[in-house]
Amino acid sequence: MAATMSGDSAGFVDLVSDTSTRPCEAMRRAMAVAEVGDEQRGEDPSVNALCRRVAQLLGKEDALFLPSGTMCNQIAVLVHCRPGDEVIAAEASHVITSEGAGAAVLAGAFVRPVPSDRGVFGEADLRAAVRKRAPKAPRSRLVTVEQTHNQGGGRVWPVETLELVAATARELGLALHMDGARLMNAAVAAGVDAGTYAGPFDTVWLDLSKGLGCPVGGVLAGDAGFIAEAWLWKHRLGGAMRQAGILAAAGLYALDHNVEPLADDHANARFLADRAEAVAGVRVDPSPVETNLVFLDVSGTAQAAEAIAARLQQQGIRMGVEGPHRMRAVTHRDVTRADCLRAADALAAAVARG
Ligand SMILES: *Cc1c(COP(=O)(O)O)cnc(C)c1O
Repeated sequence: MAATMSGDSAGFVDLVSDTSTRPCEAMRRAMAVAEVGDEQRGEDPSVNALCRRVAQLLGKEDALFLPSGTMCNQIAVLVHCRPGDEVIAAEASHVITSEGAGAAVLAGAFVRPVPSDRGVFGEADLRAAVRKRAPKAPRSRLVTVEQTHNQGGGRVWPVETLELVAATARELGLALHMDGARLMNAAVAAGVDAGTYAGPFDTVWLDLSKGLGCPVGGVLAGDAGFIAEAWLWKHRLGGAMRQAGILAAAGLYALDHNVEPLADDHANARFLADRAEAVAGVRVDPSPVETNLVFLDVSGTAQAAEAIAARLQQQGIRMGVEGPHRMRAVTHRDVTRADCLRAADALAAAVARG
């Protein structure tokens, strides 16, 4: 038997990311029996069903299945922007930190980081960031928000804040995009429909390969005209697939079975955060934890984050290092409450060893 990295308290506990989730047996069975066809010709029934399902969930006309969330963001920027246009995003957004400057390279767009409170900004921040029309000024074109905000600690944008930012963006003539990598986490945590969050946005996507537990994929939604343009970019970038229904079947399975259990991941994250907060020198930031991302500020301990992570690794626990004194632990389907307890005990031991 291959060693398992997670889900079993005698094995490895992988808290590096919710991308560590592996498809469960039932998801693999759904994939094995999926009806398939040529996706590029619009003939894959499973892909078509997934796109209809996500479009409906997010209240949009149409949707497009893509290999990754990064491609969802990149195609959105490509369709919304022309070279020289400016995209406004919170300073530590994924599109700024983790997409190889793709917006600049592919779309020729300039991303302007705006100050935020852990990923959430307000009407005044947006007004301050949007440039006045002038022949010499870049043209502000698009606002993008992350729901939940990853580097902001899995923070959920409140509906009212989103609506205010969206109304301001409209007034200023900007398009609106939502990076919904963890939109379903926000929906479950706040008890708000994903469609309500997505409502004021022109385009929005969800990641299937994070907490929802699929091996591959993201689904990007918008109006029919946007999706037609997005199809062109999907081809250009090599993201058009063939019998992708095998993958889409995992997405359909996840939407049926893996959304509500995100609440367990959130409860486990809060449990882990509470335990971690009890360790001398460790602070949870932000606290309280709202969803499944737990950021730890370990600057009050005698050790650097790297050293703590190395000690945890020896105890069979993987956590992410986000900075010299910053760590990240992410709960997900393949991590149990017992695993979180083990991780917290190992953290206390790793810090105490001095
Ligand atoms: C993971 C992530 C992405 C990219 O998704 P991939 O499927 O890994 O390409 C984009 N935005 C946010 C906020 C993410 O957390």
